Amino acid sequence: MVQKSVYKISSMRQETPDTVSFVLSGAAIEFLCGQFVMIHYPLELAGKHGASEKDLAEGKPVKRAYSIASSSVRGLKGEIELCVKAMPDGWISKLLQEVKLGQVLEVSGPFGRFTFDPLKDKDIVMLAAGSGIAPMHAMIEQICLGDHKDVKGHLIFSNKVESDIIYRKVFDKFACDNSNVKISNTLTRCADGSSWDGSEGRINFKMLSEICGDSLVSESKVFFICGPSVFVKSMRECLEELGVSKENVRFESYG
Ligand SMILES: Cc1cc2nc3c(=O)[nH]c(=O)nc-3n(C[C@H](O)[C@H](O)[C@H](O)COP(=O)(O)OP(=O)(O)OC[C@H]3O[C@@H](n4cnc5c(N)ncnc54)[C@H](O)[C@@H]3O)c2cc1C
Repeated sequence: MVQKSVYKISSMRQETPDTVSFVLSGAAIEFLCGQFVMIHYPLELAGKHGASEKDLAEGKPVKRAYSIASSSVRGLKGEIELCVKAMPDGWISKLLQEVKLGQVLEVSGPFGRFTFDPLKDKDIVMLAAGSGIAPMHAMIEQICLGDHKDVKGHLIFSNKVESDIIYRKVFDKFACDNSNVKISNTLTRCADGSSWDGSEGRINFKMLSEICGDSLVSESKVFFICGPSVFVKSMRECLEELGVSKENVRFESYG
């Protein structure tokens, strides 16, 4: 049986109009950045929407996977940060937009093989779209708070519009204070006349080459991809086209 632990919401922040981040405080937890936890949302709070008759009868909590968005440095202090984007017509992702300070949630984990180990992975490129930023935030925080100055981390973050960029200020500060961390934001829908000076359009072969320069393919460079399945698929194809070996590509698809 999966072991569950009880955590309390100790802080929360509205990151963008449809995304919140919140910190769960409780027992110290060991994990590798990139892993996820399961949130067991109580059925009595979730309401009937989406629950099967069987689950309703048994009163089973509703489970959803969320990547840990904070470093293992904070995990050891009993903190897990999550970053949840409300899905259109989604059930639990919408309820989690309205969590309250002090609310208790059951958590199990950590799970997953999408992992970053700063003692082995010394040169990483992170390709994220939307809420796929959560594990990348954990990795960058690990590099900075864990004082891994020998690890080079480059995040390429794709969003539709500027107001969708999650953790923007936090990332700018990490990059400003840590010369080994680089952030490149890209937008797929840039408004006419906007002052956006980053890359525009979907991330593709050409954009990746321009942003990363000619150092893109190297035996030691590891690529992490996270986001919706269409994004993950297209990034994997793009890296294959660029000649990146499969062993150097790790990915997590949010379905
Ligand atoms: C390993 C992993 C890590 C994840 N980490 C994160 C994270 O860090 N942050 C994050 O925001 N999300 C993350 N997710 C996604 C998360 O687990 C949920 O899937 C997401 O929050 C949506 O849950 P929901 O209950 O709101 O949506 P649901 O109610 O489950 O619906 C999801 C979508 O499916 C559609 N849908 C629902 N039922 C049907 C149906 N019968 N037919 C057709 N379409 C339907 C809905 O319209 C909605 O758009 C992760 C997923 C995985 C697998």
